[in-house]
Amino acid sequence: MKSFILRKMLGMVATLAFFCLGFESAHAGDARLGKMKADRILILGNSMTTCGSNQWGLSASTADKDYAHLLAKSIDEVTGGSLVLEQTSPAPDRWYDGNPLPNYNGNVINVADIFERNYKTWDNARIKNQLEWKADIVVLQFGENVPMNDFDTEAFAVAMNKLVAELKLSSNPQIFIVSHVLGRNPAIDDIKKQIVAEDPGHRIYVDLTQIHEDSSNMGQYSHPNDKGMKLMAEGIFKAMEMHAAETGTSQRYNYARPFEPLTRPAFISLPPGAVEPAGWLRDWCLAARDGYTGHMDEYDDAFKHAWASDYQMTGERLLWYKGAWPYEGGGYWFDGLARLGYALHDDALIQMAKRRLYAVADHTNANGIFFLWWLDRNNPDDRNAVAAALDGWPVWACGLLGRAMVGYYAGSGDKHVLDSLETVYGADPDCLREITGSMSNLWPAFDTYTWTGNKSIADALDAMFDEKRAGLTPILNRYRTAPDLKPGTEVENQHVVAFLENTTPWAVGYLWTGDSGYLEAALGWHELIERVAMQPYGVPVSDEWYGPTGAFRGSETCDVAGYVWSQAALLAVSGEGHMADRLERAFFNAGPATVSRDFKTHIYFQSPNRFADGSPNFPHGPMAGGGSYKPKHSPLCCTAALNRIVPYYVTNMWMATYDNGLAATCYGPCKVTALAADRVPVEITCKTDYPFNETINMSVKPAKEAAFPLLLHIPAWCKNPELSINGSVVSVQQNAKGFVCVNRSWKPGDTVRLYFPMTALVKTGRDDSQYGPYTGEHKPTMVKVPKEGSTQGPPYATVSYGPLLFSLAIPDTKDANTPEPSARWAFALDVQNPDITVERRAMPSRWDWPLDSPLKLTVNATAIDWTPAPALPKLPNSPVTKQKEASEKITLIPYGCTKFRISMFPVTANTEASGSH
Ligand SMILES: [Zn+2]
Repeated sequence: MKSFILRKMLGMVATLAFFCLGFESAHAGDARLGKMKADRILILGNSMTTCGSNQWGLSASTADKDYAHLLAKSIDEVTGGSLVLEQTSPAPDRWYDGNPLPNYNGNVINVADIFERNYKTWDNARIKNQLEWKADIVVLQFGENVPMNDFDTEAFAVAMNKLVAELKLSSNPQIFIVSHVLGRNPAIDDIKKQIVAEDPGHRIYVDLTQIHEDSSNMGQYSHPNDKGMKLMAEGIFKAMEMHAAETGTSQRYNYARPFEPLTRPAFISLPPGAVEPAGWLRDWCLAARDGYTGHMDEYDDAFKHAWASDYQMTGERLLWYKGAWPYEGGGYWFDGLARLGYALHDDALIQMAKRRLYAVADHTNANGIFFLWWLDRNNPDDRNAVAAALDGWPVWACGLLGRAMVGYYAGSGDKHVLDSLETVYGADPDCLREITGSMSNLWPAFDTYTWTGNKSIADALDAMFDEKRAGLTPILNRYRTAPDLKPGTEVENQHVVAFLENTTPWAVGYLWTGDSGYLEAALGWHELIERVAMQPYGVPVSDEWYGPTGAFRGSETCDVAGYVWSQAALLAVSGEGHMADRLERAFFNAGPATVSRDFKTHIYFQSPNRFADGSPNFPHGPMAGGGSYKPKHSPLCCTAALNRIVPYYVTNMWMATYDNGLAATCYGPCKVTALAADRVPVEITCKTDYPFNETINMSVKPAKEAAFPLLLHIPAWCKNPELSINGSVVSVQQNAKGFVCVNRSWKPGDTVRLYFPMTALVKTGRDDSQYGPYTGEHKPTMVKVPKEGSTQGPPYATVSYGPLLFSLAIPDTKDANTPEPSARWAFALDVQNPDITVERRAMPSRWDWPLDSPLKLTVNATAIDWTPAPALPKLPNSPVTKQKEASEKITLIPYGCTKFRISMFPVTANTEASGSH
């Protein structure tokens, strides 16, 4: 029908004026839209662009009311230029196979016959004149006349690619590719989006599919009337303005997403696989692969059920403890599995992840409830069952799977999985709002938007950040704004898994709306938990709610994973170096404590001090058994979540920057392979045993000499960092966010040496935690932002060296749950005169967090009489008076190398000092 009308119109063409090619008349000035040159515009379209005898777009009432003229006018108004629009000449229906090439003059051309209906034989020579003319801006508005009865996806993609590639070669213009306007055609629009995704710096997809949905926008021949034309012009112009604001014509961003909003994150995550672990870090990754991550199905049947196509819970069984748990567990596990697979370039792991994710992607449909594809969102029973299952808990679990899918897609580019994400998050513009107790889907929905530009996802994100819209639970809504950090402020605490999942994603609000308040909120709540609840190993008290720092308080393994994920995400958005410091601190300390050395048993809770198995008796989860290393714990959450810890660190050690540089955010032995400068492949090898030594040697190998900035994070604990480039010392000038920027032309063989001298730091504080099982109930309590120099609770001291926390190890020579009975651990740290010395040895040939650590500290301590009760252990209430004869040196090793240890020590008092009290 449509095709018939277009042909009819074309048949009416009369030869009007014959515009000679020339364009000499074209303004050759220096008009710019933002950084974008705007002197020459080329529009290749169909009848909406120019049609027949009228020589303007169908169905505008006059020439100056079609979208092309309105668009040119809008551009000129901003730039002060005068774009020339010359219509197709000769008229487009003259094209036939034997026609001599090129066909046309002019810069506003109807390609309905030469491209749309004959894309299979498209020849760039047909626009030879236009290519030679060298446009600054190109608008491609066509697709409606492509015959869909025998549509050849591949041939159409080839023709489109040929066209844009040739345009790029001729003048590298900014190309605006307009969606289907007359109705929707995903088959064609998907190809357009794909083409945009390949060069987001120069290609922009303009979604105008909504115009036809309002019949008042449509006129004769079901083509846009004056009102519709105006909307087309406005839509394209808005896309131009947005793009102009963010892009210089010579600039493109190697890792930017094709549809990202105007507000950019500070860093762009590299796809999983860009960073490969080496040295000790690779050994640990291999242990993860050979332990849990590659073998989860062997640990519990729940992992076989996880998102398996024949495991479909409905009704009451959507409660996690009645059958739905595998949805959470699967999300956690697949997230770690895919990312570890790419980090290690291990095809077996990648295939395993693919198989499991395909089981969902194969079935995803717009009627499902998120990834719960067997449910029907139009069925009130299904909706109610999901909502009734602990305030939409199954939807929360879907967000974890969404993150796994995003990680897998980022590594693979596998469109089947992206389609699944788009179906799930694009099905319902209310989806992010609808379940009001969870934010876990926000980030994967946002990621999916940046890859697809899906309008419905955009609407869902708009709704999520629309403050006027009610619906979020108060507990969630309070994280929208930053907390009061004033000492003494009281805050209602939360379960820490929920806290992390519900605070961190507000940072997406900053990217989506540009309102920095959202980022400040996310960072503010993390600052609050840092002040209120941080444990010395770098993860807050979470047993399972947060509360004051305590020597025998626990941190759930789920929260080690959740904290690592949160800091990596906030680091990318904010670019704040102290997030990188927190990421390193959690990963190097709390990370290894979660699992045994062979990565085959794990704990549910860790605590700074552990001197006996079954101690302390934690208030939640597996209670007293939560500190034991076992193949699995009940509930299985931590067994699944621990798979994320190692790959999240590795994949976030390097990030890309928006000036096409690379940023070293966290350190450790690795190799990064990524694009920098103008898409030059660069390989950077980091040779180091960091954090077990202080030097990082990088060798930089660009495929050819290339100028790009290299950002290097300077850890906040390091007071005198040194940097050398090719053997010459360079002064270290950090920016406000804790990074040094080395902007130079890099040649293969260039070297960077970082030296981060570590100093031992003794930190004292008060343990104001509650001891023992306090309520055991899942309910909030009030916690206070501590006051400086508070004297509440027993005093303690910790020792750190660089990013590492140090502990007095109680050897676990028999197994991880049996402390050496003869070990002495009742000591008070001599905080008045610690006199710390450092001992180093070579790294072992294979790394497994050994007791025989390559890095040891000795420190002065005093043996004390301290025999805490295992079920309810406490630190001594006051400092212990020093006695000269009892003073001795004790040896400390990294916290991560211990399974039993003291790391929050009782402290000594000087005789004089204690007398003065
Ligand atoms: Zn857990």
